[in-house]
Formats: sequence, structure tokens, C-alpha cells
Amino acid sequence: MAIPTGHEPTPNHGTVVIVEDDHNIAELVDLYLRNAGFRVLQAADAVRGLELVAQEQPCLVLMDIGLPGPMDGLEACRELRRRSDVPVVVITARDDEVDRVLGLELGADDYVTKPFSPRELVARVRAILRRTDASHRPTEEPLSIGTVTVDPLRREVSVEDQSVALTAREFDLLAHFAANQGIVLTRQQLLDAVWGPGWFGDERTVDVHVRQLRRKLGDALPLATVWGVGYRCG
Ligand code: CA
Repeated sequence: MAIPTGHEPTPNHGTVVIVEDDHNIAELVDLYLRNAGFRVLQAADAVRGLELVAQEQPCLVLMDIGLPGPMDGLEACRELRRRSDVPVVVITARDDEVDRVLGLELGADDYVTKPFSPRELVARVRAILRRTDASHRPTEEPLSIGTVTVDPLRREVSVEDQSVALTAREFDLLAHFAANQGIVLTRQQLLDAVWGPGWFGDERTVDVHVRQLRRKLGDALPLATVWGVGYRCG
């Protein structure tokens, strides 16, 4: 599929890897992302997808869940999370996969359910990258919450000098809590601040990520649920 002519070349916003075995979907997404200024690399199975990510260090990965071959998209996401904190948007054909996808095991940053609008997908990709770019900006000193240290410059989290691996979204959520200690934050406020105004998901997304932070940081994290309202840290 060719890029429609008559456009000036768009600036390079970085490389996106799409792992999708449905050629038509991959080509359609590829087209929209290229028109939005991204360089796009396609892989039709998980093994090739992981290779591409390792070689190309993309700014974002789109991962279909239903993939052929020895490794499906769920396993590929897990593997990706072990290796990097690159933002991952999962493409799923099933609504009932969304909970798993959003967090518990996988730490995906967002998802779309087939059939999806490529235009909406591009909007979500941009929203995620705006947020991760902003949180990568090295402006802040390390913050402490209880015995947890959050270093926004290095994007590192530690508990008593032991490093803790978080996904990009978990890190952003924790950093936001760290910057707003003692304040009760509603789920909607957290969605706006951490997921950004382009986020289309619902408030349970926040709960899923809070559960992950509690699981990974345990008692070191002084994070209280304020029933009927939201969360308060510190
Ligand atoms: Ca598929």
C-alpha cells in the first residue's frame, strides 16, 4: 500500500514496531502511522517482533495478542517487559482479555479491541508518547515516599537501595503519587494526569495499576485507598 501523494514529508517521530499476523491490519496501521510521521516496522510473529524491538529500539510497540507460532502476543508482552520499558499497545480481538492485557501480568500501556479505528489508534499512540516524553524530561530530583525512592531523571525506583522494575505506566503513576503526597487523588484526576486527556479507557485501569504497584512495592509503599474517592499516598 502506498502513502497517498501530495503530502510534504512528515517529521520523524520515531520508530514503531507492529507485531500483527493479519497483513491487511498491519498495512492499514502502517499507512496511518507513516502518514503521522512515524517510521514503521512490521513483524508477523512474536519471535521476529522481539528481534526487531531489540535491534531497532522503537519508541512504541503495537502487539497483536493472537499470533501464530510458538509464542503468542501475551507471552511476547511478558518477554518484552522483562527486557525493556518501551510503551506497548496491545491489539486484542476479545473484550474479556482486556483485564489481563492492561496489567496484571503484562503491563501494557493501552489496548485497542478489533475492529478499531486506525485514526483513534494513532491518537492513542501520540497521547502515550507525549506522556512518556514529558516524564523523560530530566527536571526533577529523586523523591521519597516512605522507604521508596523515585528518581524521575533515571526513571528508577528502589526500596532501601534495592532496585524495583516497573513498567513505564506504573512508574508514571508512582511518580505522580510521589509528587502529590498527602493529597487525595480521584481516579479521574489520576487518569488525566498519568494517562493524559487522550485516554479512552475507564477508571478500573487505575485500580489495576495500583494493584501492581502494591504487589511490587509491598509494605514499603504508604498508599491508602480512600473508599468512594480514590487514593492517597504518603
Ligand atoms: Ca492475529
